[in-house]
Amino acid sequence: MDMQTWRDSRATAVEATEALRAALDSLGVPESVWGTLRPVVTFKGTAYVHVGMVRADVADRMCDESPRGYPVTRSVLRYVKHRITQQPDTCTTFEAECMTCDWKAKPSTDGAGVDVQCMSHTGRTGHATFRRSCTSLALVERAE
Ligand SMILES: [Zn+2]
Repeated sequence: MDMQTWRDSRATAVEATEALRAALDSLGVPESVWGTLRPVVTFKGTAYVHVGMVRADVADRMCDESPRGYPVTRSVLRYVKHRITQQPDTCTTFEAECMTCDWKAKPSTDGAGVDVQCMSHTGRTGHATFRRSCTSLALVERAE
Protein backbone atom coordinates (compact mmCIF):
# COMPACT_ATOMS: atom_id res chain seq x y z
CA MET A 1 0.00 0.00 0.00
CA ASP A 2 1.40 3.38 -0.96
CA MET A 3 1.39 6.36 1.37
CA GLN A 4 -1.41 8.18 -0.49
CA THR A 5 -3.71 5.16 -0.24
CA TRP A 6 -3.01 4.96 3.48
CA ARG A 7 -3.68 8.69 3.91
CA ASP A 8 -6.98 8.46 2.02
CA SER A 9 -8.09 5.40 3.99
CA ARG A 10 -7.03 7.02 7.23
CA ALA A 11 -9.06 10.15 6.40
CA THR A 12 -12.09 7.97 5.61
CA ALA A 13 -11.70 6.06 8.88
CA VAL A 14 -11.28 9.26 10.91
CA GLU A 15 -14.33 10.87 9.29
CA ALA A 16 -16.47 7.79 9.94
CA THR A 17 -15.24 7.58 13.55
CA GLU A 18 -16.08 11.24 14.18
CA ALA A 19 -19.50 10.80 12.59
CA LEU A 20 -20.27 7.79 14.79
CA ARG A 21 -19.04 9.64 17.89
CA ALA A 22 -21.28 12.61 17.04
CA ALA A 23 -24.24 10.30 16.46
CA LEU A 24 -23.76 8.53 19.81
CA ASP A 25 -23.26 11.86 21.55
CA SER A 26 -26.51 13.16 20.05
CA LEU A 27 -28.28 10.09 21.49
CA GLY A 28 -27.11 11.16 24.94
CA VAL A 29 -24.59 8.32 25.18
CA PRO A 30 -21.80 9.36 27.58
CA GLU A 31 -18.26 9.97 26.32
CA SER A 32 -17.07 7.00 28.39
CA VAL A 33 -18.84 4.83 25.79
CA TRP A 34 -18.04 6.56 22.51
CA GLY A 35 -14.63 7.90 23.59
CA THR A 36 -13.06 4.52 22.87
CA LEU A 37 -14.05 4.53 19.18
CA ARG A 38 -10.99 4.80 16.97
CA PRO A 39 -10.11 4.82 13.28
CA VAL A 40 -8.20 1.81 11.96
CA VAL A 41 -6.60 1.15 8.56
CA THR A 42 -5.68 -2.43 7.68
CA PHE A 43 -2.46 -3.37 5.91
CA LYS A 44 -4.50 -3.65 2.69
CA GLY A 45 -5.75 -0.08 3.11
CA THR A 46 -9.33 -0.83 4.19
CA ALA A 47 -10.79 1.83 6.49
CA TYR A 48 -12.53 0.66 9.69
CA VAL A 49 -14.00 2.12 12.85
CA HIS A 50 -13.00 0.06 15.88
CA VAL A 51 -16.08 -0.01 18.13
CA GLY A 52 -15.16 -2.66 20.70
CA MET A 53 -17.65 -3.54 23.41
CA VAL A 54 -20.90 -1.59 23.48
CA ARG A 55 -23.17 -1.83 26.51
CA ALA A 56 -26.38 -3.67 25.68
CA ASP A 57 -28.62 -0.74 26.70
CA VAL A 58 -26.64 1.58 24.42
CA ALA A 59 -26.95 -0.88 21.52
CA ASP A 60 -30.71 -1.02 22.15
CA ARG A 61 -30.92 2.78 22.07
CA MET A 62 -28.93 2.92 18.83
CA CYS A 63 -31.44 0.54 17.23
CA ASP A 64 -34.45 2.36 18.66
CA GLU A 65 -33.40 5.59 16.96
CA SER A 66 -34.11 4.17 13.51
CA PRO A 67 -37.46 2.83 12.35
CA ARG A 68 -35.67 0.25 10.17
CA GLY A 69 -33.38 -0.90 12.93
CA TYR A 70 -30.20 0.54 11.44
CA PRO A 71 -27.69 1.49 14.10
CA VAL A 72 -28.11 5.24 13.47
CA THR A 73 -30.03 7.40 11.05
CA ARG A 74 -28.29 8.99 8.07
CA SER A 75 -29.22 12.49 9.15
CA VAL A 76 -27.57 11.96 12.53
CA LEU A 77 -24.38 10.66 10.89
CA ARG A 78 -23.72 13.95 9.06
CA TYR A 79 -20.74 15.52 10.78
CA VAL A 80 -20.46 19.30 10.95
CA LYS A 81 -17.63 21.04 12.76
CA HIS A 82 -18.67 23.57 15.37
CA ARG A 83 -16.86 25.85 17.76
CA ILE A 84 -18.06 26.99 21.15
CA THR A 85 -17.20 30.35 22.66
CA GLN A 86 -18.58 32.58 25.37
CA GLN A 87 -21.56 34.61 24.23
CA PRO A 88 -20.25 38.12 23.39
CA ASP A 89 -21.16 40.91 25.79
CA THR A 90 -21.89 38.50 28.64
CA CYS A 91 -20.01 37.86 31.88
CA THR A 92 -19.13 34.75 33.81
CA THR A 93 -20.92 34.60 37.16
CA PHE A 94 -19.14 33.01 40.11
CA GLU A 95 -21.07 31.44 42.99
CA ALA A 96 -20.21 29.43 46.08
CA GLU A 97 -22.16 27.69 48.81
CA CYS A 98 -21.05 26.18 52.08
CA MET A 99 -21.29 22.39 52.24
CA THR A 100 -21.72 22.49 56.03
CA CYS A 101 -24.53 25.05 56.44
CA ASP A 102 -26.94 26.99 54.20
CA TRP A 103 -24.62 29.97 53.67
CA LYS A 104 -24.15 31.17 50.11
CA ALA A 105 -21.75 33.76 48.76
CA LYS A 106 -23.24 36.75 46.95
CA PRO A 107 -22.94 35.84 43.23
CA SER A 108 -20.45 38.03 41.41
CA THR A 109 -18.60 38.44 38.14
CA ASP A 110 -15.46 38.73 40.28
CA GLY A 111 -14.28 35.18 41.13
CA ALA A 112 -11.64 36.42 43.57
CA GLY A 113 -14.31 38.37 45.45
CA VAL A 114 -16.38 35.21 45.88
CA ASP A 115 -13.28 33.38 47.14
CA VAL A 116 -12.75 36.13 49.73
CA GLN A 117 -16.37 35.74 50.88
CA CYS A 118 -15.73 31.99 51.36
CA MET A 119 -12.55 32.62 53.36
CA SER A 120 -14.42 35.12 55.55
CA HIS A 121 -17.15 32.51 56.15
CA THR A 122 -14.47 29.99 57.13
CA GLY A 123 -12.94 32.55 59.50
CA ARG A 124 -16.32 33.12 61.21
CA THR A 125 -17.56 29.52 61.33
CA GLY A 126 -14.68 27.09 60.70
CA HIS A 127 -16.65 25.65 57.77
CA ALA A 128 -14.03 24.85 55.15
CA THR A 129 -15.78 23.08 52.24
CA PHE A 130 -17.62 24.96 49.50
CA ARG A 131 -19.25 24.09 46.21
CA ARG A 132 -18.11 26.68 43.70
CA SER A 133 -19.60 27.23 40.28
CA CYS A 134 -19.07 29.61 37.44
CA THR A 135 -21.82 30.11 34.92
CA SER A 136 -21.49 31.60 31.47
CA LEU A 137 -23.55 31.78 28.32
CA ALA A 138 -22.07 29.75 25.51
CA LEU A 139 -22.45 30.36 21.80
CA VAL A 140 -22.07 27.46 19.35
CA GLU A 141 -21.39 28.34 15.73
CA ARG A 142 -20.62 26.31 12.66
CA ALA A 143 -16.86 26.36 12.14
CA GLU A 144 -17.02 26.21 8.31
ZN1 LIG B 1 -21.07 27.27 56.54
